[in-house]
Amino acid sequence: MINEFSRMNNSPLSTIPTLSSTPKMISLKICKNRDRNNSKYIYMRDNLTYDQLKQEICKQVEVTLLPTEFCLSIFNVENNSWQRFDGTNLSDKSIPLRFRSHSILNIEKLEHMNERCELCLILCRQPKCISDTIHLTIQSSVTLGQLKERARKMVTNQETHNLYVQKKYEWLIFGKTLDGQSLAELDFVTNSVISFGTKDDPFPGVCGLTNLGNTCFMNSALQCLSNVPSLTQKILSFDETMNAPVISAYVNLIRTIWSGEYTNTKPSSLLINIREDLPHFTKYRQHDAQEFMNYFLHLIHQELTNERTVITRLFHGQVQSSVRCLHCDSLEINEETISFLPLSMSNDVNQYDIIYLGKYGEQRSISICSNATTVGALIESFIRQYYPKLLPTQIKPVKIVDNYVMDEYFSCTHINDRIKSCLAFIEVPEKTNDKKHLQVEFIEKTTRKCFRPPLFLMGPSYNCRYAHIVEQINQIQAYFCSITNAPTSAFKLYRVDSDLQYLHLSSERNLNELLYYSDKLVVEIDSQYVDVYKNHVNIEYKPRDASLNTLLEDFFREESLNGDYYCSKCQGLTRAKQKADFTLPLPPVLIIQLKRFPFDVHSSSKIDTFIDFPLKDLNLGKYIAENYRNGENMLASYDLVAVSNHTGTLTYGHYTTYAKNYQNQKWYSFNDDLTREINDERDIVTKNAYILVYVHQTVS
Ligand SMILES: [Zn+2]
Repeated sequence: MINEFSRMNNSPLSTIPTLSSTPKMISLKICKNRDRNNSKYIYMRDNLTYDQLKQEICKQVEVTLLPTEFCLSIFNVENNSWQRFDGTNLSDKSIPLRFRSHSILNIEKLEHMNERCELCLILCRQPKCISDTIHLTIQSSVTLGQLKERARKMVTNQETHNLYVQKKYEWLIFGKTLDGQSLAELDFVTNSVISFGTKDDPFPGVCGLTNLGNTCFMNSALQCLSNVPSLTQKILSFDETMNAPVISAYVNLIRTIWSGEYTNTKPSSLLINIREDLPHFTKYRQHDAQEFMNYFLHLIHQELTNERTVITRLFHGQVQSSVRCLHCDSLEINEETISFLPLSMSNDVNQYDIIYLGKYGEQRSISICSNATTVGALIESFIRQYYPKLLPTQIKPVKIVDNYVMDEYFSCTHINDRIKSCLAFIEVPEKTNDKKHLQVEFIEKTTRKCFRPPLFLMGPSYNCRYAHIVEQINQIQAYFCSITNAPTSAFKLYRVDSDLQYLHLSSERNLNELLYYSDKLVVEIDSQYVDVYKNHVNIEYKPRDASLNTLLEDFFREESLNGDYYCSKCQGLTRAKQKADFTLPLPPVLIIQLKRFPFDVHSSSKIDTFIDFPLKDLNLGKYIAENYRNGENMLASYDLVAVSNHTGTLTYGHYTTYAKNYQNQKWYSFNDDLTREINDERDIVTKNAYILVYVHQTVS
């Protein structure tokens, strides 16, 4: 006992036994659960004995325990640990303890000494619902993580990482960082009510960042990087006390974000450490999220001091540029390291979003890149880009409102905003002189409303009978039933005469029936299959992967060099072509910048073109240099993990992020402080996308 006491006596914050003179007032910080961030100051004389001290604590701090039920431990700043003393390791309890002012003491429940203590806990079956509970008996020596594991098997809600304990109508959060501590250490007592959280609880990685004054560019970039799994896992393994200010601040930030205990946090200490180093921009420009991201990764790389760091390993790729002399065909090859891929976008190309309706029922929304000014020219661009086998005469350009044709256009019709907004191209059978088009509408059985735009069939101009169109109807029926799995009986054709009588046309009985020009043809579909159809059309909403690949193709396309090229073989100026290619290995993380801001100080324009990009399976195989290609099963596919979005103009804009959480595979929107789950993945691809972060499929 004496030995123990003298050991404590040597530590800087321990008791100083002395019989000396006049007592003075000191302040002590008292905490529970060894939570130093949650302490209370008390004031007392510095000559109290151990028992007096405990009584004084009970007076000044709200303690549910009697002085005999707890002991104290003291925090030792030097070795960052707690030293426990319970009276038995004091040689003489009548000697006053002398603490230094501001010492930190923790109230430790004495039951903790008994490792075999059994706890009976009350577990809520539904998040924080105390009217529906079950009992759970567990040893106080097990860890919080083990308790969560056992409790999780007993309830249906397994969504959250946090456990809550009810204390006086309040729920105290026990997050992931405490998982390694025992229930005894965490002060769990018998009959405590425990619960998992709701879906709205903080989730690891889903943590907003406070805007510290025009810092949305930084927040957006940091959220992108936080959701790169291999980077974040590496950062979490770093020691925050390493002598590297930016990394230390970043380690702390990432730990907070991924602790699952916070819905938002302030990146202040990181900002302080990088602010002076931030690249400055002209006053015409906002800080740029892409420049920041690139620079921030560079700062981390520098602090790591090695040549090859986690940054170079994850983000750096090699692009080889080959210049081919058009005179002697010799090649000059240079390799360049890239940390991101800047893709140029052209501004003079307009984008048109139209609905395309195939003649047998196909319905798609399509984006056409074209600088056409007339409907006819746009049809030509459309055919060239999507259906090269169609003829312009097979497209009927119309205005569709609420699934009805409101207007028809001519080739020479000039495109204005009004026309642009509801434009649809309907594929029609090619018409000859003695043939006419018959419109067929599609209505839902119960509501009697059109659920999709009409189609056009072709029949003879005179004496058109059902037999003339039955084959076309069968094709449409086959298409509809194949995508909805509807039986053919769910699909019925009617002729609506001038008295608005619905006359059912059956291919068995009515093949000879005349179809008058004044008649309307209507297909009626059972409502349940209309819903299936609408879902299908939504899934097919946009052809993915068209536009980003176009930009990539432009980047890697062979192009004539401007001006003359000095060929060392020809020993003179010649004409040459240049081509860029990736070499292997491909970067594990590929950052793509869509260059929406032209580098022109005088121009305040931003390119708002919608670029379609895939969430999965972006394949870079065809952009790898031929001398590096190694067979067919080359791994070159990437999945999207984050998008930095920019809204507004060059000078007044706002950045947000969409990112995929690698722990639950859900997408979230990050808008400074605010986060929300994205329920529909199609919302991720917008015209605001500015930085795309892709991760190699073998890396994530
Ligand atoms: Zn040459």
